Amino acid sequence: METKAIPYGRQDITSQDIEAVTLALQADYLTQGPRINKFEEEFAQYVGSKYAVAVSNGTAALHLNALALGVKKGDKVITTPLTFAASANCVRYCGGEVVFADIDPNTYLLDINSVRSLLENAPKGTYRGIIPVDFAGRAVDLEAFRKLADEYELWIIEDSCHSPGGFFVDSNGVKQHCGNGNFADLAIFSFHPVKHIACGEGGMITTNDESLYQKLLALRTHGIVKDDDLYTNSVEFASAKASTDQYPAWYMEMQMLGYNYRITDFQAALGSSQLLRADAGLERRREIAQNYYNAFLDKKYINGQSGVVEGHAYHLYVVEVNDRLGLYNFLREHSIYAQIHYIPCHLMPYYRELGWKEGDLPLAESYYTRCISLPMFPTLTDKEQQFVIDKIDSFYNE
Ligand SMILES: *Cc1c(COP(=O)(O)O)cnc(C)c1O
Repeated sequence: METKAIPYGRQDITSQDIEAVTLALQADYLTQGPRINKFEEEFAQYVGSKYAVAVSNGTAALHLNALALGVKKGDKVITTPLTFAASANCVRYCGGEVVFADIDPNTYLLDINSVRSLLENAPKGTYRGIIPVDFAGRAVDLEAFRKLADEYELWIIEDSCHSPGGFFVDSNGVKQHCGNGNFADLAIFSFHPVKHIACGEGGMITTNDESLYQKLLALRTHGIVKDDDLYTNSVEFASAKASTDQYPAWYMEMQMLGYNYRITDFQAALGSSQLLRADAGLERRREIAQNYYNAFLDKKYINGQSGVVEGHAYHLYVVEVNDRLGLYNFLREHSIYAQIHYIPCHLMPYYRELGWKEGDLPLAESYYTRCISLPMFPTLTDKEQQFVIDKIDSFYNE
């Protein structure tokens, strides 16, 4: 039992997945093939959005979003310090300024009141957008954020990397799935192996906005447009012929400065195959969360836990404990590799250099002193989970 390492998260690759990738590798296109479109359509349907754009990773998805929304030098964007750095970095890629607001210590999500107070204390027009994160898999109440964003004419990028399949219940009692585009302008997902759906590397942008969608398609591939109706150069120039009324088949235009952020066809094949098991994986994650919750309910050494929340997608199961370092090292000695999510982003040396310092976001910083993410992935067995629970118990009771 103690010999097999238990990580905090891991992918699950089945023989069905391998077969799907093998078929893609034997097909005509390794990149930009038909499996990308298929994966996009299936994913859009899964989250309930109109459009989906598959890209090379979640960070590329964030970068393209910032570009599509026109983030430029000096633009101020609000996000949470409790996230993977990419949520903030995408603003910096475009020369914008990241303003971190504090978290709600009960949900661990970006605190809307903290955001509101930033907005109220600055002249209107100071901020351009908000990037809330469905941290650990818990869906942000985007209905509330949309209302606030509309008041200040802000856009919203929902970082849903932790929450495919997650949802919140809106004021009408309707389930609103993460990334469905009903409230946020754009949402992003990651298919890094530790996330719910693995593509190796991979990402997805979802939206209900057609013009953003068209822009993202071009930005993903160098800013190239291939559509007779959208060309700006003359048909005579394109065909290098004085009298013609048709653009030649080879013609295309680079209309904006884009990137190569494409995903490959065989990664998309893996994504589609994984998506078939997404709901089963989600169900298992919720079961594991319930088990942790029950096990820790009356334990004095647990100061807080992710709990059992409707619509939570449980990318992570976070508990708050005393002597976190001691517990972390003790678990490692027993081959249990818990993780810390996150070192507050504003205190990374890069952001300190931009002026952020300890004490700026007291709730996120205090949370960081106690948080630890326990093993949480669909193939974690009951026996392994019990081993984790027992080891935690023995650490505090010996
Ligand atoms: C994983 C992750 C990203 C980045 O995704 P990559 O695919 O690794 O580039 C961004 N935001 C959050 C919250 C993440 O967890």
